[in-house]
Amino acid sequence: MYELLKKITPTAFIKKNETAIRVLLSQFYKGHRFVCSVCEFKMARFITSKKGDKLCPKCGSLARTRRLWQFLKPKAKDVKILHFSPSRSIRRTLECLKNITYITTDYTNEFKAMKCLNIEAIDEPDNQYDIIICYHVLEHIQNDIKAMDELKRITKPGGICIIQTPFKKGEIYEDITIRSEEGRLLHFGQKDHVRIYSIEGLTNRLSSVGFQPIKQTYKESINNRNGFKTDETIIIAKKPI
Ligand SMILES: [Zn+2]
Repeated sequence: MYELLKKITPTAFIKKNETAIRVLLSQFYKGHRFVCSVCEFKMARFITSKKGDKLCPKCGSLARTRRLWQFLKPKAKDVKILHFSPSRSIRRTLECLKNITYITTDYTNEFKAMKCLNIEAIDEPDNQYDIIICYHVLEHIQNDIKAMDELKRITKPGGICIIQTPFKKGEIYEDITIRSEEGRLLHFGQKDHVRIYSIEGLTNRLSSVGFQPIKQTYKESINNRNGFKTDETIIIAKKPI
């Protein structure tokens, strides 16, 4: 149904009317077996994307976004949050919370956001944020050590950066001589990615700028009611007090 709708409807029309379309679309998915942890919609099944991800038919959340929200929800009280490249479903949820200060930023004009901060030279004072969400950003950044240093600078002492990227086993794979879109797609899996991290490689780099990173890995049971990924890691990088 979802793929059919995408095929027969112009993209611009879908983007403009996405909320209304999703409300309508979600009626075909209603049920009790699964529930979206972001919008709490109950459904018989998730939409499976071409890449195999499970999308919520109501709010469009990806599996990783639902996991992020599950982690973030208990912490989202009386805090100042900065969210890089904010996915729509979680942005809307956070925008509705009255007891947080929520700032969004996007440098590439891909996501709706309040600011346009360059992560390699962040135009913000030191020690500003309790929580920074930096999901699927660092694998796009040429000087990632500088970006990590900047993230640490604007995080409050005792605050955290919640970080995720695609991961591989072994060492970080990067090669600055690969600059073409075709080359990057071939080597790094996406035309605008500049490396593939390993979990250990990323945590080592975060440690090198003074963060205290903790690896949080989740495994899911077969029932997987929230449609999470079955094996997923988030890095929680704490700034020492
Ligand atoms: Zn949802």
